[in-house]
Amino acid sequence: MLSTSLLSADKDPMGAAIADYFKHRKADRLRVFSSQFDEDEIPVKELFRAEKLMPLLERTALSMAKGKILDVGAGSGCHTLPLQEAGKEVHAIDISPLSVEVMKLRGVQNVSQTNLFDERFCGAYDTILMLMNGSGIIGKLENLPTFFKKMKQLLCPGGCILMDSSDLSYLFEEEDGSIVIDLAGDYYGEVDFQMQYKDIKGDSFDWLYIDFQTLSLYATENGFKAELVKKGKHYDYLAKLTLQ
Ligand code: SAH
Repeated sequence: MLSTSLLSADKDPMGAAIADYFKHRKADRLRVFSSQFDEDEIPVKELFRAEKLMPLLERTALSMAKGKILDVGAGSGCHTLPLQEAGKEVHAIDISPLSVEVMKLRGVQNVSQTNLFDERFCGAYDTILMLMNGSGIIGKLENLPTFFKKMKQLLCPGGCILMDSSDLSYLFEEEDGSIVIDLAGDYYGEVDFQMQYKDIKGDSFDWLYIDFQTLSLYATENGFKAELVKKGKHYDYLAKLTLQ
């Protein structure tokens, strides 16, 4: 099931890390746990990356964004701010109360604590940005029809979604280069994560990495067309989704 709720500050580890970094220019470790992977960390500084330090896929997405833009899961506002500075009209949304607070303090003019999947959330956008494995918030393949339905409600005629993701199949590659995937199991890009910052631990959540072919298949089934804009350096890519 897709969550349509917002986070509360006591369950908002990434927001707490973002707020700390904004206030003190440094932060503790933002720890990431998963039942599928070893413990990892997100370098908090990277959540504040300037445009010139962004991966090419993200810079490409920013240069393609036009008209009324929605930045979904905007975090620290790292994509919203350069767009706003370039004179573009952009609305940033995030479920994290602490991130939304920081975005306001950083000068983001149009920001709200909103869950993309909240039924009450409506609007009309020319570009919907979903970056830093933006497919993640869809959570699972089975949520894709709900996602595309929401996108139909939010997109202006001729509008598009710009989303980056990664094909995780490389994680299942054997030494001889063959890929061994259990086809009877869940889709290999469906993962669960939980984050912790200091003593603030968030709830576990589903996160979807999707290969371009699978994305394209679901897009077609749901009235959209997927175009591969650019491939990244590490099995990642930027896709453009438009209504068929
Ligand atoms: N785009 C930012 C942050 C990416 S992390 C960047 O590139 O740095 C993903 C963000 O999405 C987090 O801030 C998280 O709080 C937010 N998020 C997760 N689910 C969401 C949802 N359903 N609606 C809106 N934002 C969501």
